[in-house]
Amino acid sequence: MKKGSVELVGVVKRYGESTAVRNIDLHIEGGSYCCLLGPSGCGKSTTLRMIAGHESVTEGDILMNNRNVTTLPPRKRGTALMFQNYALFPHLNSLDNVAFSLKIAGISKQERHVRALEMLKLVNMESFFEAFPEQLSGGQQQRVALARALINQPEVILLDEPLSALDPFLRTRMRAELKNIQQQLGITFIHVTHSQEEAFALADQVVVMNNGFIEQVDDPIAIFSRPSTGFVASFIGGHNIIEGTLTDSGLSIGEQRVIALDTPLKSDSDNRARVSLRCDRIQISPEPFDTAQPDPLHVESVEYQGSYVHLRGQFSDGLGLSVFQSDADYLASPLLAGDRAFVGWRHTDLNPLRPGGDALSGL
Ligand code: ADP
Repeated sequence: MKKGSVELVGVVKRYGESTAVRNIDLHIEGGSYCCLLGPSGCGKSTTLRMIAGHESVTEGDILMNNRNVTTLPPRKRGTALMFQNYALFPHLNSLDNVAFSLKIAGISKQERHVRALEMLKLVNMESFFEAFPEQLSGGQQQRVALARALINQPEVILLDEPLSALDPFLRTRMRAELKNIQQQLGITFIHVTHSQEEAFALADQVVVMNNGFIEQVDDPIAIFSRPSTGFVASFIGGHNIIEGTLTDSGLSIGEQRVIALDTPLKSDSDNRARVSLRCDRIQISPEPFDTAQPDPLHVESVEYQGSYVHLRGQFSDGLGLSVFQSDADYLASPLLAGDRAFVGWRHTDLNPLRPGGDALSGL
């Protein structure tokens, strides 16, 4: 097993009467980049803080490298936590901020400065070694905070929304740098975010959380192409969720429409079942075509998004769909709100969802 593996076994966190994390099991491979992804309040930070040892565990165990660390203090776990607000000491320059924990550990000034400078080099901040936090931009402060978290050579680094304070341009740049540093050092990164774009760009493993539960753990491609629940499909965006009654011939919607299925689907006790369908996998045209649904979709809105156009529409039986059409296809025969259009898809693009659970409304 690679160093820096983390395992959560039946972990529960309760604050008084309320439960923030509900019995989660998770294995994070050593040396991987893991993102905990979900909406605000779903338990991501609590999970991260329990792994760091900054929050007690109500039930269950946390293992690192197969060693049970559930009750160990943070400094004995081999982890380092980088806080959202960076928490740099305002009265110390970059070098001394990074070297701080070495000073506490009694390491000589010369050695700690050599090591701190190495870390500042790693994050491209060596030329700012004398600068105080107030003289640094948000992005620069963050690099110093990262260098400070890395100085003790942790096996696991924990990052709580590390990019949220940065402007969009810097966020994308820092994202690439984080990934670069992780790959260079080969240590485990566990990164909390509510941005699916960030998680997809960074993670080897995405853990989608909702309401204290884990909904799905997978690599980004699997999460996007095969979301397992209605919640995941709606949270990551770009998917339609189609619900109907399961019959022998497919998913029945309203009185007339039956959507044929290729894969077996599970239904709930009322025989209701759901599939997701990527918005960019729906073909749309003013004219009928082979695989199109027999009746037209009434186009209700058309939003230009740059590389694609987002069309929303509804069939007369009430089934609503969102379609992402490439700008080239759209411009070849532009549809407008109020138009009627034919839509179709391949059966293989219908992705079965687990019955039950919630989905966020609206796309
Ligand atoms: P996220 O990081 O996904 O936004 P959190 O882990 O911070 O979510 O919070 C999960 C839930 O636990 C929320 O309902 C939050 O209000 C609650 N919570 C978090 N910290 C505390 C605390 N110290 N005391 C009481 N409730 C808390």
